[in-house]
Amino acid sequence: MTDTYAGPSSASVLLQQPPGKPDFDVLVVGAGPAGSAAALAAARAGCSVALLERGPFPGSKNVYGGVVYGRVLDELVPQWWEEMPVERWVTRRSTMVMTADQALTVDFRSQRWGTAPYNGATAHRADLDGWLAGHAVAAGAVLVPATVATGLLRTTAGTVVGVRTDRPDGDLTARVVIACDGVNSFLAKEAGLHPKQDTARHLTLGVKETLALPREVIEQRFGLTGRDGQDIEILGCTRGIPGGGFLYTNLESVSLGVVVGLPGLATAKVRPEELLADLKAHPAIAPLVRGGRQVEYAAHLIPEGGYDHLPELAGDGLLVAGDAAGMCLAAGIWLEGVNFAIGAGMYAGRAAVAAIGAGDTSQAGLAGYRRALEKSFVLADHRKLRKVPGLVLSERMQRQYPGLICDLAEGLFEVDNPRPKPGLRRLLRTAVRRHGVSPRRLLADAITGMRAFG
Ligand SMILES: Cc1cc2nc3c(=O)[nH]c(=O)nc-3n(C[C@H](O)[C@H](O)[C@H](O)COP(=O)(O)OP(=O)(O)OC[C@H]3O[C@@H](n4cnc5c(N)ncnc54)[C@H](O)[C@@H]3O)c2cc1C
Repeated sequence: MTDTYAGPSSASVLLQQPPGKPDFDVLVVGAGPAGSAAALAAARAGCSVALLERGPFPGSKNVYGGVVYGRVLDELVPQWWEEMPVERWVTRRSTMVMTADQALTVDFRSQRWGTAPYNGATAHRADLDGWLAGHAVAAGAVLVPATVATGLLRTTAGTVVGVRTDRPDGDLTARVVIACDGVNSFLAKEAGLHPKQDTARHLTLGVKETLALPREVIEQRFGLTGRDGQDIEILGCTRGIPGGGFLYTNLESVSLGVVVGLPGLATAKVRPEELLADLKAHPAIAPLVRGGRQVEYAAHLIPEGGYDHLPELAGDGLLVAGDAAGMCLAAGIWLEGVNFAIGAGMYAGRAAVAAIGAGDTSQAGLAGYRRALEKSFVLADHRKLRKVPGLVLSERMQRQYPGLICDLAEGLFEVDNPRPKPGLRRLLRTAVRRHGVSPRRLLADAITGMRAFG
């Protein structure tokens, strides 16, 4: 089994002669959610499809927090909830704002989400990715695991006609290549789809521990029964470094993680595992994870630039989908990438089929992909929330507002007899002064927030 990685040294191989009949209609690189959805959509439409995966099996190399929103699957796998490998159905969604010794949680619960057609679920990536890739294979796609795409095959005119792999006889040709090779997408970079500027600015690093706990303990601590699950998103847990945290429940484990911006991490000179240790020891989190035995520790990059920093999505003979195209949405109360990856992969697969059918797989012939994405939730959500990543990762949101919000709550809930109760306005004034926030700035951010989410 080969286990090497395509790296920055990957380079296009220029073919003097365009290949004759290609090996496949569609070649998908990366069997993550985007790749499997692309392969499934194209294979189901009757195209011959190869799905390349560098890991020994789909999901073997993939990392995420753990929550999947399945509505996008309704179209691809009707009644998916009857077969998807789910740990728990998310019936509690909470947002926690914290300082070192305070925490305010907005906790929402809906039992409706615990019944079909369900809203969100927790699932392990190895299970989820394997399951979706299995659907692509059942539809006719050829899964080629343990194989790294090391570079693009291009004609001298620049049209992508396939990929080179790390196998000895490893060139594979296709009418359309769909790059679903994740956040570092060397293929999309090599094709010049990503702008040349410093993209590290828009990357965050996620580190995650999976802690095993007995099922009854999880249910007791999180107030859950049966397959119900909880998703907690956390702000203010990263020592002011732009980012956030999460805590999700599985059947017999919990996933705890922090996500921090690379530039902030480099400046602060803090190791991400120190932030995770802080979070684990926080008074609001420690009782929930106490005694958990670490069964997994993982780290992975996340593209968080949002709509304003998407690359070109198509080139001649090439489409790019999912994290490879920066389609992850991380906006405080959301950390979603899998559903966007599935949606983008599905539209990329369909666009490839349409372009092949029309006999035009040039950039213009593949332009229907972007149009379809713009009409769908994938780019509509990114467009609508384009200002949110900047707002959530801003200095004030990270350093000042968590303390301000917690102090406000503390003032409201504290009973300080014999002093009369303070009014909300006075509490706000005191908290604003204490945390050095200008009231004008606060108002401006509140308006930006309302516009961004509105
Ligand atoms: C810590 C963390 C927490 C997260 N939490 C959540 C969450 O709770 N919910 C959510 O929806 N999203 C979450 N995300 C985001 C989510 O993981 C991604 O948005 C999603 O996985 C993107 O799917 P994808 O198919 O585009 O890419 P990936 O899942 O990264 O898949 C890329 C695939 O391509 C393969 N590959 C890469 N290069 C090559 C190559 N050269 N040749 C062959 N194969 C290759 C990889 O092995 C991999 O299988 C989180 C991310 C992180 C890091």
